[in-house]
Amino acid sequence: MSNDENKLSAKERFKIPTQKMIEQDPTERAKNFTQVNLGYTEELAVQEALRCIQCPKPACVPGCPVGIDIPAFIDLIAKRDFLGSAKKLKEATSLPAICGRVCPQEKQCQGPCVVGKKAPPVAIGHLERFAADYEIEHAGDEKPELPITTGKKAAIVGAGPGGLAAAGELAKLGHKVTIFEALHKAGGVLQYGIPQFRLPKEIVQIEIDALKKLGVEIVLNALVGKFKSIDQLLEDGFDSVFIASGAGLPNFMGIPGENLNGVYSGNEFLTRSNLMKAYLFPQYDTPIVKGKNFAVIGGGDTAMDAVRTAKRLGAERAVIIYRRSFTEMPARAEEKHHAEEEGIEFMTLVNPIRFIGDDSGWVKQMECLKMELGEPDASGRRRPIPVEGSNFILDVDAVVIAVGNSANPLLTKATPDMKVNKWGNIEADSETQATNKPGVYAGGDIVRGGATVILAMGDGKKAARAMHEYMMK
Ligand SMILES: Cc1cc2nc3c(=O)[nH]c(=O)nc-3n(C[C@H](O)[C@H](O)[C@H](O)COP(=O)(O)OP(=O)(O)OC[C@H]3O[C@@H](n4cnc5c(N)ncnc54)[C@H](O)[C@@H]3O)c2cc1C
Ligand code: SF4
Repeated sequence: MSNDENKLSAKERFKIPTQKMIEQDPTERAKNFTQVNLGYTEELAVQEALRCIQCPKPACVPGCPVGIDIPAFIDLIAKRDFLGSAKKLKEATSLPAICGRVCPQEKQCQGPCVVGKKAPPVAIGHLERFAADYEIEHAGDEKPELPITTGKKAAIVGAGPGGLAAAGELAKLGHKVTIFEALHKAGGVLQYGIPQFRLPKEIVQIEIDALKKLGVEIVLNALVGKFKSIDQLLEDGFDSVFIASGAGLPNFMGIPGENLNGVYSGNEFLTRSNLMKAYLFPQYDTPIVKGKNFAVIGGGDTAMDAVRTAKRLGAERAVIIYRRSFTEMPARAEEKHHAEEEGIEFMTLVNPIRFIGDDSGWVKQMECLKMELGEPDASGRRRPIPVEGSNFILDVDAVVIAVGNSANPLLTKATPDMKVNKWGNIEADSETQATNKPGVYAGGDIVRGGATVILAMGDGKKAARAMHEYMMK
């Protein structure tokens, strides 16, 4: 930072325009799977960092579920100490390159940012990504300082963001950590759900390798509840267990025709494309439905990822069907914006009531009803009400249903003394993540239902602290 920049007053900082991240051109990127956002240059990052007025009581920090010291990491960018900034981030989060790409910042840290009252808020997520990427590109292959070992062993079920965050914290506290992951790759939704164009898998792997350097062991293809129960893990000598098995069971709509060929769940469609690499055809020949008239039902991140994947796989018409309005869609604001730019069509205030098949059992049409918005429901969003007699038919040749996920019952059924709520989510203490079983903790989507990466990570961190206390007693 030059001396002049150092002396900028808050008023002068307010005058610096927000710095836009470089992006791939929408018409080009709608045909490929490489990253949409290309990142900040050093100059752009410094200019954006200078927009932060370094509030004495920063409104952004309480919005961050893992409590990143936001003004401090931004100030280090403004002072061009990029590696120092990444180090500051890592004090609070083990996955900054991921969070910088996928967190819904507008609902979390950036929402209450003071600058946002008069101008666009400081782009905290973009800056987080910049510092984390800079470290990946410029830091040497240093071995992390390992703490003195405690001799205690912790088991983690699930290698998604919740499990990975807990593993990082526990390893830093000196415990031997083993993660058991059902799939053949670690990362959870980061690996099988979120597409390459939003979160390159190389980034996920780098963050996982960093945990391995801390001594974390990851056992793949290990479905807990089948190969071992939670009680068996404790009998085997693990002093404590953290369950972060996610909410991987897709919800369906319960309408006629859902089992027609060409109708997928969001999870199946995205797993085929991402984890099983169907998007890399012909290098990988994983079968995947490639409709010309492709409809995706839902308005969350899964729906947005599915429809943009369908477009990239060659759909001529890729349409989001959502029963509320555009404003109520829960997907990240940036994803909705990017989808619009890429030519995704949004059919809002519309709900399908049945799928219609051809003679060979393939979906060919959808009957839909128009909706209008009534009073807010329990979620705070206005309730969609069907408009009587507004039925219409839409031609489709592929459909993805992305209307939320529920807890996978396998693990909880294999642990009958574990307390679960009526939706099958594990009941855990909100401060410690402790379950009703001594030594067993749970967090992330298996407790909350489908939520966010950073909330799962926050739970992982809380659980790690409580597990440490429990194991050291
Ligand atoms: C397509 C999609 C896009 C999303 N986009 C975003 C986004 O942009 N931003 C955001 O913040 N959130 C997003 N989310 C939500 C976010 O990914 C989840 O809230 C988060 O991943 C939850 O983390 P988790 O660790 O609890 O579970 P998961 O990420 O689901 O990981 C759970 C892991 O446990 C494994 N597992 C399950 N059962 C067992 C078992 N019995 N034994 C061993 N292993 C088991 C699973 O294979 C999986 O790897 C998205 C979700 C989806 C589906
Ligand atoms: S609220 Fe905004 S301006 Fe204030 S410290 Fe946080 S990022 Fe900077």
